[in-house]
Amino acid sequence: MSTTAAPPLIEAFTAEPFSAPEKFTQFCSNGGKPLGGLVGGNEVPGSMNAIFDVINPGTHEVLARVSEMGYDEVNDAVKVGYRAFNGCWKDTPVEKRIALMMKLVELFERDHDVLMACEILNGGKVSELAQGDLTHFRACAEYFADVARGIQFGDGGVMELEGGMNAYSFVEPWGVVAGIIPWNYPVVLSAWFMIPALIAGNCILLKPSEETPLSALYLGKLAEEAGFPAGVVNVLPGRGELTGKFISEHPGVRYIAFTGSPGVGQAILQAADRHGTRVKREMGGNGSAIVLADADPEIVARMIGKNANQHYGQTCSTIHRVFAQREIYDDFLEATESFMKNLKIGNQAEAGTQLGPVINSRQPQRIIDGIQYAKANGAEAILEGGHAKVSGYDGYYLKPTLLRSEPGSRSNPQEVFHCFVNVQSVDSVEEALGYANDTHYGLGSSVWTKDLELGQKIVKQFRDGTGQVNCHNTVAYGLPYGGQGISGGPGGGVNCEETLRDYLQTESIFVAPYPG
Ligand code: NAD
Repeated sequence: MSTTAAPPLIEAFTAEPFSAPEKFTQFCSNGGKPLGGLVGGNEVPGSMNAIFDVINPGTHEVLARVSEMGYDEVNDAVKVGYRAFNGCWKDTPVEKRIALMMKLVELFERDHDVLMACEILNGGKVSELAQGDLTHFRACAEYFADVARGIQFGDGGVMELEGGMNAYSFVEPWGVVAGIIPWNYPVVLSAWFMIPALIAGNCILLKPSEETPLSALYLGKLAEEAGFPAGVVNVLPGRGELTGKFISEHPGVRYIAFTGSPGVGQAILQAADRHGTRVKREMGGNGSAIVLADADPEIVARMIGKNANQHYGQTCSTIHRVFAQREIYDDFLEATESFMKNLKIGNQAEAGTQLGPVINSRQPQRIIDGIQYAKANGAEAILEGGHAKVSGYDGYYLKPTLLRSEPGSRSNPQEVFHCFVNVQSVDSVEEALGYANDTHYGLGSSVWTKDLELGQKIVKQFRDGTGQVNCHNTVAYGLPYGGQGISGGPGGGVNCEETLRDYLQTESIFVAPYPG
């Protein structure tokens, strides 16, 4: 007799117990000195004499102390970057650059546990999600190695023009480029910047968030060990309003890849535009999900709950806004409540935790303000949210928030960045699309239905960079991940062929016979 196994229950990302390896502790303690930036192959203290604490958001423990990089270090990094660029890096054959990158991948995998400690203890992530994040480093390197092997570097094919003139394109890296990245996915977002930028032949300034600088600093050390020439990989930790601003205002930086919030992205674009630095920006979202009447409310509630709680809602395209067809609205809401209220709140390094701490002391009030905004604009709380106590841990813990709102109510705040879901009922797909697109954001949205053809027709009408049917927060190398509206641009997004081209400039060369 054959039996069919029940499908596994859809669960939120969950923690395995985790403790830091000795190598991480040694790296953080740095022989008793604050960790410096990495400039020209040297660890440098900051000239501003400013040192900041890097903490574990689940315990408030200080994990490391880090020197903030000032104008002098940014300026030095630009100088040594050009020295390395002109001295060797831009003429290093692409296969040699790829080989160095694959060596870095090997070292990354050798020190997997150190990088896990950065993500879990500093980033506040549960291990199941952190494990998945770490797989991106190799996948990203292999993808861009393949892209680089297939595109033009140097001279293109010659066109013959009138009068015996020849013309061709000439493709080369920009020189010194910067990546300014946020705190929420430090390894993934370092990879998405540094791998294509370096394989394209640029020297880089990597500016991690002041909240989570450890993985970028560790990657800088690994890059040196891998054999990248001094000055090719520079890491500049510090606050955005200082170190970040010095980078975006520096005329020697030819290209900036920014990932972070829309307001900061707008400021960087203005600062950089003054001296003609190209900028591309991947910014925040306010993701929506449309649930059609044919969906199974229990299964879809668990899938949407899982995605809404990915990194506790601190993922750029997190689902905050849900529009469910009236026929299944009540059942869907009930199932979502059951999933969300059973999320295990706890320390991110303790077995079973599904909802860990938010990143810093400012976030709880921001999130609570978002909940208040929604309630003041007509949303009714099913799960109130607010501060949570986790026995034995002094961290930034919050409960999940589930709200219901009248159709068409203006109760959705800006990107909340926590496990926060506001559900409205709708009578038609058109109504749902109207509400879903009624936002300045445009990063990622999804439709949940058994009818895959209809689902695809609907997602194509989202004003977002990513439309998904029966999934959310999905990325794939080879397809652009980018935003529309205030969520991103210009440029083709990350993780596609155009991304590598973004790190290259093209010049048209015309050669005429000598006149006379
Ligand atoms: P943030 O905008 O506050 O900071 C991002 C980076 O910019 C940090 O390194 C910060 O130090 C720096 N910075 C801040 N002010 C600056 C200034 N004036 N000049 C130069 N640099 C400055 O964002 P955050 O709080 O770190 O991250 C959360 C945000 O990032 C959310 O909006 C989230 O949606 C977004 N995000 C987007 C994506 C994406 O791919 N679209 C991915 C992850 C996160």
